[in-house]
Amino acid sequence: MITAKARAVDGPDKSFRAAEIKRRDLDLHDVLIEIKYAGICHSDIHTAHGEWGAVNYPLVPGHEIAGVVSDVGGEVTKYKVGDRVGVGCMVDSCGECESCRKGEEQYCLKGNVPTYAGVDKYGEPTQGGYSTHIVVTEDFVVRIPDNIELDAAAPLLCAGITTYSPLNHWGAGTGKKVAVVGMGGLGHMAVKIANAMGAEVTVLSQTLNKKEDGLKFGAKNYYATSDPETFEKLVGSFDLIINTVSAKIDISAYLSLLTLDGTLVNVGAPAEPLSLNVFSLIGHRRSFAGSMIGGIRETQEMLDFCAKHNIIPNIEVISADQIDEAYERVLASDVKYRFVIDISTM
Ligand code: NAP
Ligand code: ZN
Repeated sequence: MITAKARAVDGPDKSFRAAEIKRRDLDLHDVLIEIKYAGICHSDIHTAHGEWGAVNYPLVPGHEIAGVVSDVGGEVTKYKVGDRVGVGCMVDSCGECESCRKGEEQYCLKGNVPTYAGVDKYGEPTQGGYSTHIVVTEDFVVRIPDNIELDAAAPLLCAGITTYSPLNHWGAGTGKKVAVVGMGGLGHMAVKIANAMGAEVTVLSQTLNKKEDGLKFGAKNYYATSDPETFEKLVGSFDLIINTVSAKIDISAYLSLLTLDGTLVNVGAPAEPLSLNVFSLIGHRRSFAGSMIGGIRETQEMLDFCAKHNIIPNIEVISADQIDEAYERVLASDVKYRFVIDISTM
């Protein structure tokens, strides 16, 4: 067993504390990663607070992991000691079902193994990246391109792929009008990626406070959703809307902003159900869809795309003692635009 230092939480209302966790000894296809940076995703907060259902505490969150390979199992072929690598939201899947065979392991019909708050094939609870080391089977490890620093790479492993995948799937590109709802961790990546894909991007944020940043990230337009005129003005405007909001919003109001045959993709995952007025869909043959992260192959494609287009997340690096404070700030929409934990402070 390998001992790793970590930050764990013991219940929905508890603060983070220092902890020691065990990582399994390397199996033939396992890679040991010395974690350098871990991003803080809003999903970590939903999970730590028990909003998505019962959690087995203590919990070590973190699924935006960037680090360096420090050991490999006897039959590992893809990575060697010293390689710069990343791990995202899942660490395994069945490998045999239709989804896995298509490279869409996130939709594994038997359920993928999440990086934390899951159970691995050995029956052990999985623990995430707020820790110094992790052991992952090589098929669920991706390579970080040389021109992306490890701290900035971390958020790409969830915020990057979760926005790249639906933009790719629904064909964001030249001639397409794309709106991004909510400009936090996921939202700011969606703006940068959609812009690089060639789409005309509009941000729909609660206020105009971050407008200057949004335009710098590549948005052409930026509107405040607190202004009712925004919804009147933009009716029927967008081919694709990516909703990244972590809370319940009036989906019908946003659906009305789609063109004929337009699609609103929900990636935001609030615990409360969203309700909608079906007339906002049927009138213009619109679609309301969802999307979850992306497969391993697509995650590597996204990293290479970001490297090629110089797409780097805007991050604020924090120490391990600042996780609670960072959670508070994310909940207050006071994040520009991703907190990343410097694991050396653990
Ligand atoms: P985040 O950094 O907190 O960003 C969410 C943004 O939503 C905020 O910055 C804010 O943007 C807006 N917002 C927050 N509360 C709002 C409210 N009450 N009304 C309207 N807008 C509000 O969170 P994130 O890490 O990007 O994650 C966003 C959501 O995606 C979370 O629910 C997370 O669990 C989910 N997620 C899903 C997947 C997936 O695979 N589908 C993957 C990762 C994360 P403005 O300040 O611009 O208004
Ligand atoms: Zn995430």
